[in-house]
Amino acid sequence: MKTDSTPTHTAVAPESLSTQLQYQTGSTGIQSLVMEGADLNALADQFGTPLYVYSAQHIIDAYQAYAQACEGLADATICYAVKANSNIHILALLAQQGAGFDIVSAGELARILAAGGNPAKAVFAGVGKTSDEIRFALEKGVGCFNVESEQEMARIANVAQSMGVKAKVSLRVNPDVDAKTHPYISTGLKENKFGVSMEAAPQVYRFAHQSPWLEVHGVDCHIGSQLTDASPYFDALDRVLALLDQLSAEGIEINHLDLGGGIGIRYLDETPPSPKDVLPALIAKVKTWAQAKGRSMPTLSFEPGRSIVGNSGVLLTEVQFIKQNGDKNFAIVDAAMNDLMRPAMYQAFHGVAELQKDAAKPSQLVDLVGPVCESGDWLARNRNLHIEQGDRLAILSAGAYGQTMASNYNSRGRCAEVLITQGQARLIRTRETIEDQLRNEIGL
Ligand SMILES: *Cc1c(COP(=O)(O)O)cnc(C)c1O
Repeated sequence: MKTDSTPTHTAVAPESLSTQLQYQTGSTGIQSLVMEGADLNALADQFGTPLYVYSAQHIIDAYQAYAQACEGLADATICYAVKANSNIHILALLAQQGAGFDIVSAGELARILAAGGNPAKAVFAGVGKTSDEIRFALEKGVGCFNVESEQEMARIANVAQSMGVKAKVSLRVNPDVDAKTHPYISTGLKENKFGVSMEAAPQVYRFAHQSPWLEVHGVDCHIGSQLTDASPYFDALDRVLALLDQLSAEGIEINHLDLGGGIGIRYLDETPPSPKDVLPALIAKVKTWAQAKGRSMPTLSFEPGRSIVGNSGVLLTEVQFIKQNGDKNFAIVDAAMNDLMRPAMYQAFHGVAELQKDAAKPSQLVDLVGPVCESGDWLARNRNLHIEQGDRLAILSAGAYGQTMASNYNSRGRCAEVLITQGQARLIRTRETIEDQLRNEIGL
């Protein structure tokens, strides 16, 4: 993954990240950044900053790229990974497109229900599901549990038995392939907490196969996030298919493969593979295998998150002060690490673009930092920007793992969110007030 360490970065052209982002030149010669035709500076006037803004068309197009890559395949499901961006308006938009959902908590299940999503098309992943979460998921008819340990398998069997129902399960296996991404978002290596090793998997399947309260549905494999090279997917698939052969020899037949998410996006100059490069080749590989073994073609699902929403969104922010300390210039903006955690957490790189680009203004080399009392509170480093106090900026590629990772650190309220649909802006989350924050602190 690109980390924003020290070199001076040239600006990232917003147009290179999404076809929905463009500069339009006005009569004064000033260029305005627009999303789906909506002027982002006008949205900052209307709704205030910091503000997340998303393009519905970008999300639809990104989802359809997956759906079309699966065309002709019976019962393929694209399960959008809710944790990337869980606003219920975005979930509703994806539900309308036919998406299923990948969820990791009872809260995310409640969100897809609120959004009108179909729980039968949801898969429930995560290493630490509680009994209460499992019961809630069984009550609501979640399609499948992606199970991450033998103890969890036993817990699901216990809860299902207490309810007198049978739970559908897939085992999340850890194929021990290196996704060559940032260590914090790599999940497919042996030393990660995720999934069950290939060696341990048959034992867990035997347990599930024998339980009257479990129905073995499939196998699940998600190897990491922000993958910019497709080869780890094929290595992982080889290992998963070998496991299926081994299980088949024991009489455990698996007819569903969930191949996870993880396709990367462009933040700076990455050239990640597109779903139409990767999915048809994975599907062909499974087909060839099934034919060679004389089996029916398994059903397939995928769990993309970042590649659906990442470049649909920007975070708008306003320059409060420009300050010089030693040799460094800091642009202190009204967005911070509590709004967008990725730079502080992974040293992640995000492009930055002026909302009103005025070439007449001198450019300066700045670090973009927030008001939070942490040296780790920076959003971008060493950028040449034409800015003055009061100007607005867009932090690019902020649609995934932005608002969902936001916190109230420093008692800052979380941002408002706006969704643009065919050029029309709609507030889809109000700005969090101090009353919202104090509501749960009872009894003083
Ligand atoms: C986070 C996650 C995803 C989505 O990953 P992206 O990189 O956003 O596509 C899919 N599956 C599981 C199990 C996850 O934890």
